[in-house]
Amino acid sequence: MKAVLDHVGIAVKDLSAALAFYRDALGLEIEAPEDVAAQRVRAHFIPVGEASLELLEATAPDSPIARYVDTRGPGLHHITLRVDDIHAALAQLRSRGARLIDDQARPGAEGALVAFIHPSSAHGVLVELKQISHQSSVLRRESAVTRYRVGELELISLCDGFFHLDGGSMFGTVPKVLWEQKAPADARNRITLAMRPLVVRGARTMIIDAGLGDKGNDKFNDIYGVERTRHLDHTLAEAGLAPGDIDIVLATHLHFDHAGGFTRREASGRIVPRFPRAQYVARRGEWDDATHPHERNRASYLPGDFVPLADAGVLQLVDDDQTIMPGVRVRRTGGHTMHHQMVLIESGGRTAAFVADLMPTAAHLGLAWILGYDLYPMDTLAAKKAFVKEAVDRDMLVFFEHDPAIAAGSIREQDGKLRVVPALS
Ligand SMILES: [Zn+2]
Ligand SMILES: [Zn+2]
Repeated sequence: MKAVLDHVGIAVKDLSAALAFYRDALGLEIEAPEDVAAQRVRAHFIPVGEASLELLEATAPDSPIARYVDTRGPGLHHITLRVDDIHAALAQLRSRGARLIDDQARPGAEGALVAFIHPSSAHGVLVELKQISHQSSVLRRESAVTRYRVGELELISLCDGFFHLDGGSMFGTVPKVLWEQKAPADARNRITLAMRPLVVRGARTMIIDAGLGDKGNDKFNDIYGVERTRHLDHTLAEAGLAPGDIDIVLATHLHFDHAGGFTRREASGRIVPRFPRAQYVARRGEWDDATHPHERNRASYLPGDFVPLADAGVLQLVDDDQTIMPGVRVRRTGGHTMHHQMVLIESGGRTAAFVADLMPTAAHLGLAWILGYDLYPMDTLAAKKAFVKEAVDRDMLVFFEHDPAIAAGSIREQDGKLRVVPALS
């Protein structure tokens, strides 16, 4: 068996004291925290070469980490070894009489398989084995930050993590036998979708949409299979940006998977704008619909995502297709919602298009592959037909906000068939 040290987990009682040592005194860099809701733990990773230290902070009194710290005090909690074949490793351990906490490997974060070995067999140390799945390595790579240049403008595709929606709803009238070849469904018939906000840097710094954010409770996160171990804070930081660097936040529409990240909840429970210096731009018709929902669209609009923006006086509503900053203009598509808009980014003779839910993934390229969620599907069809032709003719760089693997690509037509060629960043 070959094993590589993945990380060392350290149970922490007082996070600020731990940061004073690891970050300030040792001078190490700490990544944005990741919440593991099921374990009621917040993990702070510190890269050290190929491996990491993981500071583990309890988020509730009944967290396993809280119990550990109560009985043994803070300190080394576990070590994690990465193996190629976790089933073979467990079989070998079993045959040698090792005591296992997990007799079978179970799913861990990001699609990995994990299993714990009892400390009594490992000479007093809790050992975790971990096998990174092929799929998780794909997802991890594709949640990476990718950069593109369009003339004078720099475009940076970020990722707020993944969520899951009913596959049938995502493809409308297309039968499952067809769509599942492009988007495999989980046991609950859901498909994996990414959330990819786009930063545009030019005269000013803009972000288009902002993902789901972290205001959802456990029930919400379970229904939508939210996986945000790596989210917008991580990818923003990786792009060299902080929330305070954003001047303009532009909304394609106000559904929760696009506007959730517009606001954040403070410790007091108050919801405030997440980008402290930004003006938020939305379409007036979309705003009116979001603030006056009906039975069909009510579940998609969460007032906490956008009402606090008006309360804070940072909301700017636009009525028509227009330029929002030099090189960036909005165009109404309708279809998905009456006032859903796409964003065209033009500079130096090149054009990029951020099409949002007009074509949420590359699998939605086919003209009939239209979301069941769309309020006006025939308007989607007309807007998509016109857009696809334009994208092919002008060789646009097209951003797919929800595609789990392809952040951006070109649409090509060959022998009457359309396909997406992923763009190299
Ligand atoms: Zn939507
Ligand atoms: Zn969406």
